[in-house]
Amino acid sequence: MRKNIVAGNWKMNKTLQEGKELAAELKQLLAGAKPACDVIIGTPFIHLVTVSEELKGSVIKVAAQNNADKESGAYTGEVSASMVKSTGAEYVILGHSERRAYYGETYEILKEKVLLALKNSLKPIFCIGEVKEEREAGKQNDVVKAQLEGSLFNLSKEEFSNIVLAYEPVWAIGTGLTATPQQAQEIHAYIRGLIAAKYGSEVAENTSILYGGSCNPGNAKELFSNPDVDGGLIGGASLKAADFKAIIDAF
Ligand code: PEP
Repeated sequence: MRKNIVAGNWKMNKTLQEGKELAAELKQLLAGAKPACDVIIGTPFIHLVTVSEELKGSVIKVAAQNNADKESGAYTGEVSASMVKSTGAEYVILGHSERRAYYGETYEILKEKVLLALKNSLKPIFCIGEVKEEREAGKQNDVVKAQLEGSLFNLSKEEFSNIVLAYEPVWAIGTGLTATPQQAQEIHAYIRGLIAAKYGSEVAENTSILYGGSCNPGNAKELFSNPDVDGGLIGGASLKAADFKAIIDAF
């Protein structure tokens, strides 16, 4: 059966020292607890080694927030999937709307990033979701379908089994607006149906589909109680250990 997952996305926040402290605080809060979901934190690249070391012996796993679309070589400033893997990280967030919007990440670029992540045994947490105008025009299903077809549906069944999806309506990210539990359930069920049509119902049933977009301790329980919502990708609220723990406790 699929896993429930609560994953944090720290984005470009926290110095190395602050990140180490936040990871230690979270480890402490979760010590002895048996969370009813997997817990992942997505840190900036420079934190990965330190945070992975800090979290040894805890249930919390570590994700990067990106990897390059090239294997290695003369790509100044880039960080490859094999480099990410060598830090101890197990996951990588790919396809986040901020990277699509601000760094020009196209379906094709993301397709390469996903392939390289998988080749290096990283599990992608792959983000999809529509912008406000697309939701208002009722096009959200077409948008997520195109995103899946454009970057993921080239994968084999075995490869796709390593993907975690995050449905993140762009209009809800960092805005305080949240999809209603009904809106989330509707589109999550639609996404699972697309996976079933492509890879069969067993793969679809085993794929974790997280919700992201202003998820917080006050709304997490209601969102996660939907049958096709398997947890959350949490931005702002992952920067405070107590809030992140409260979201984990929503399961
Ligand atoms: C995100 O960045 O993936 C996210 C969901 O952010 P927030 O929770 O702050 O809306």
